[in-house]
Amino acid sequence: MRYSAPRGTRDILPGEIEKWQHVEGRIHRICELYGYKEIRTPMFEQTELFVRGIGEVTDIVEKEMYTFADKANRSMTLRPEGTAPVARAFIEHKLYAEAQPVKLYYIGPMFRYERPQAGRYRQFSQFGVEAFGSMDPMLDAEIISLAHDFYVSLGLDQIKARINTIGCPECRPRYQGHIKQVLSGRLDQLCRNCQQRYERNPMRILDCKNERCSGIASEVGSIDPFLCDECSEHFEAVKTSLDELSIPYVIDPAIVRGFDYYTKTVFEFVAEGIGAQDAIGGGGRYDGLIESCGGPATPGVGFAAGLDRLLLAMEANGIEPAVSNRLGCFVVAPDKGSRIRSACLVSSLRRLGVSADMDYVGRSMSRQLKHASRLDARCVAILGEDELARGVTQVRDMDRGEQWEVPLSEAASRIADFVRSVSGE
Ligand code: AMP
Repeated sequence: MRYSAPRGTRDILPGEIEKWQHVEGRIHRICELYGYKEIRTPMFEQTELFVRGIGEVTDIVEKEMYTFADKANRSMTLRPEGTAPVARAFIEHKLYAEAQPVKLYYIGPMFRYERPQAGRYRQFSQFGVEAFGSMDPMLDAEIISLAHDFYVSLGLDQIKARINTIGCPECRPRYQGHIKQVLSGRLDQLCRNCQQRYERNPMRILDCKNERCSGIASEVGSIDPFLCDECSEHFEAVKTSLDELSIPYVIDPAIVRGFDYYTKTVFEFVAEGIGAQDAIGGGGRYDGLIESCGGPATPGVGFAAGLDRLLLAMEANGIEPAVSNRLGCFVVAPDKGSRIRSACLVSSLRRLGVSADMDYVGRSMSRQLKHASRLDARCVAILGEDELARGVTQVRDMDRGEQWEVPLSEAASRIADFVRSVSGE
């Protein structure tokens, strides 16, 4: 039996993982700059949390959840997104009693049973931020600005937010009524999905990827005339803040987002050159979420970026993060009798903070040198029986080919000094 990773999942091997670590480093940095603190929640939750949090009539809840009964026959679901779990933790740990807004971020795998294709996986990683406890439109702008700065810090400097507002439970029904009215005579021209959406969630017709549907949907017009004063003023204030912060954006009435919990501001980021699955992040305000998950009425706004697609977008845009994977020193031990002393040198180097390694499969001296090149070692230290007898080691600069001898007693500190002095060249 040959096993392979389950369909829609992938292994990330050394060589690729460095790019992920680079992106993750940028995430921690940007969140530190914006004052968001990391939270880690379980990879699975009670199914009900997602049904109530995301909404029953959504693609995720209807079709895409990895749901299973545990041994006590409780229904559990692998998290398909991060906001509902963070909202659950916010309520469970009474974070609403702390100084508001509470600003949190997470990184981790999400699971959705979708048809795998380029940029769409069944297990994928998201980075997300959530800010609870403030209605301030400037907080919406802060989150869009954080997302924008994050993408730019990775080299996607042409990125532009697409923003929209979807109103609130007070004004949205008027717009939904309007959508139904405009589309009522055209139902037979919509795709099967949209025909179902017409009854259950007509706003989702506006972001259908089917060209015919989006053509028809463009006749619906913007939500603007239907917005209540509060939603209208909120959206104006978000736009003004973005203008003042010099965050580029376009207004796109087709952005409605797939989850029920959104209110007012919604936004998305789209990347060029990665095919149909081109959304690399999105978010919005969700003033009803905490309440619908059983907590006290608390407004919130958040954003989530898909890291798998983000890496595809970086590649498509020719962005190669400069990640250095060089080994500091490879200790070449050509004779059996010098191996233990070589291991001690390797160990001393590591304790001095220099990455070091040696041979463990009985290579000849020339093959050890070759292996050192393969590991991109900055230098090698040659320690054979002859060197051992003379109490020295030969150090070779692998970039310049120069070689010199150092007393064994000082070898670790001298090599460490050398590697430090040339790193960053
Ligand atoms: P959503 O939670 O659906 O708003 O998704 C947020 C981001 O996660 C999207 O913009 C994508 O970048 C990413 N994403 C969502 N679903 C998938 C998937 N199946 N595979 C890879 N990335 C995904």
